[in-house]
Amino acid sequence: MKNRTVIKTLSGINTADGDGVKLTRIIGSHELNMLDPFLLLDCFESDDAQDYIGGFPEHPHRGFETVTYLLNGKMRHKDNAGHEGVIESGGVQWMTAGRGILHSEMPEQEGGLLQGFQLWVNLPRSEKMSKPRYQEYLPESIAIEDLAHGGTVKVISGKTDKGTVGPVINDFVSPTYMDISLSDNEAFSQRLSLGHNAFIYVLQGSVNIISDQDGKSPLPSKHLGILSDGEQVTIESAEQDSRFLLIAGKPLNEPVARGGPFVMNTEAEIRQAFADYQRGLF
Ligand code: MN
Repeated sequence: MKNRTVIKTLSGINTADGDGVKLTRIIGSHELNMLDPFLLLDCFESDDAQDYIGGFPEHPHRGFETVTYLLNGKMRHKDNAGHEGVIESGGVQWMTAGRGILHSEMPEQEGGLLQGFQLWVNLPRSEKMSKPRYQEYLPESIAIEDLAHGGTVKVISGKTDKGTVGPVINDFVSPTYMDISLSDNEAFSQRLSLGHNAFIYVLQGSVNIISDQDGKSPLPSKHLGILSDGEQVTIESAEQDSRFLLIAGKPLNEPVARGGPFVMNTEAEIRQAFADYQRGLF
């Protein structure tokens, strides 16, 4: 089996979104516009309430999915379809915006650490105007696989080589979304579908990606490594305990037109989205 290697690394740019929430934009900036089907990846992490207390007041989305994975803290979400709830540490919300929703995402805390990721996953043309829907999972509903040397794999979506299956279903891009912790020098291998775009984001420690030709490609903390194509990826923890996300998905290979919170196939569809939003049709 052909091992994937790292073809590009980047660390994202510091920016702010919503009402002044400080974050690192890892996908969706001039460094990396997109990695089909992934349109955006934001990481927020701060124990200073001033960095996050403004939250993300009501705003629209159309044409893609937003995936919130919270590592620390609590976020309350609420939308105009009557859906409301609190995402807690370790929980995930996979929201299919489809033809459009208006929602808010606000910190449910006034202090302490708030840490998590938001990933935008594109929808194929045929699904961009579908009915909005949610897949929400409490931390205890996320599948966990124990590795031989103390590590763990939390599976949000996809299936490990040993058969642990994550709860989130998406037949459009068949995503893999795993949160992997490795002990000192522990290794982990995962098969990935040929042709799926894939990346690793290191949360803690540092890792080596082991490949046939290049040997070890190091990936330090707070860096994203885009993987080459191949049938599997092998990652080892370098010198210390490490934690990283492994995310992959089938590229849609469709034209992408972006306009703020809307992602469609054409500029005309973006103009329509703004017009529909202004007319209150969301
Ligand atoms: Mn949003």
